[in-house]
Amino acid sequence: MGPRDRWKPTTPSGRVFDIKRYSIHDGPGIRTTVFLKGCSLGCLWCHNPESVDPRPELMHWPGRCARCYACVAACPTGAIAKDAEGAVVVDRSKCDLCGKCAEACLYDAMQIVGREMSVDDVMAEVEKDRIFYEQSGGGVTLSGGDPAVQPAFAEAILDGCRARGLRTAVDTAGFSSNGALERLASKTDLVLFDLKVMDEARHRETTGVPNGPILENLGKLAAGRTEVWVRIPLVAGVNDGDENIRRVIAWLAPHEAIKRIDLLPYHSGGLEKARRIGKEGRFRRFEAPSEERIAAIEAAFREAGFEVRRGG
Ligand code: SF4
Ligand code: SF4
Repeated sequence: MGPRDRWKPTTPSGRVFDIKRYSIHDGPGIRTTVFLKGCSLGCLWCHNPESVDPRPELMHWPGRCARCYACVAACPTGAIAKDAEGAVVVDRSKCDLCGKCAEACLYDAMQIVGREMSVDDVMAEVEKDRIFYEQSGGGVTLSGGDPAVQPAFAEAILDGCRARGLRTAVDTAGFSSNGALERLASKTDLVLFDLKVMDEARHRETTGVPNGPILENLGKLAAGRTEVWVRIPLVAGVNDGDENIRRVIAWLAPHEAIKRIDLLPYHSGGLEKARRIGKEGRFRRFEAPSEERIAAIEAAFREAGFEVRRGG
């Protein structure tokens, strides 16, 4: 490094927990979805539990473990041991996330989730599929977690995409303040806005936060110039009842700019991931509504004039 190098501008960096190529559920066409770590909500049905905490986490995959115990030897804090049956167990209270077990494991059974990436790193990844975006009308989606939890990083990625002529979408849980969401919306082509439960107490009980700020943000974005699609996770017994659906439609109907609704039936895949990061106690098993119920909800939105898709 030369004496002047430290004065050169560096691109902002942030924490990413996954980058998925060839996604067809996060906006139009074929997309690369960049998952930023950190979310303001803690939905009990979350399908990406490893996205919620903004900090890195250790993920252990028992199904991949070959019981070679290289991780036990590599761990400098004694956080990993074998139990009476020979299975590997992690004492997370002793783990400082140094990553040495992940380096030692030849079977990918230990991973640190949440890596620091610069905007340039992200751009290099998303540029790989430019040809698919151009052929399919796709682009890059920022998801999470919630990109609004890392606003400077998210904005810089959106700026980078725009400068390269790549179309973008931002998938948000909608709970943010200080105009972060409006700034992101001004830099993207599409906002995918998650809407969960209309009843305030039920929303707080199942997501950990009130829904007032979320509805306020949705109203502001719907009045802006960026296209907004509303995405509703459908969870049986939580938000699939007539009363909730009626209230969602009544709230959305006056917002002419919101034309499309994506219905995302619950699946339990998040529970296994929660176990792998040692947080199974924070999430709950739910059920998806029945096929008949989902069809009835689709019909109700269509009748109210919305374009409806299942699964995004
Ligand atoms: S290094 Fe990997 S495969 Fe070996 S015991 Fe540890 S987790 Fe299992
Ligand atoms: S990340 Fe480091 S401290 Fe934590 S279990 Fe692995 S080796 Fe041990």
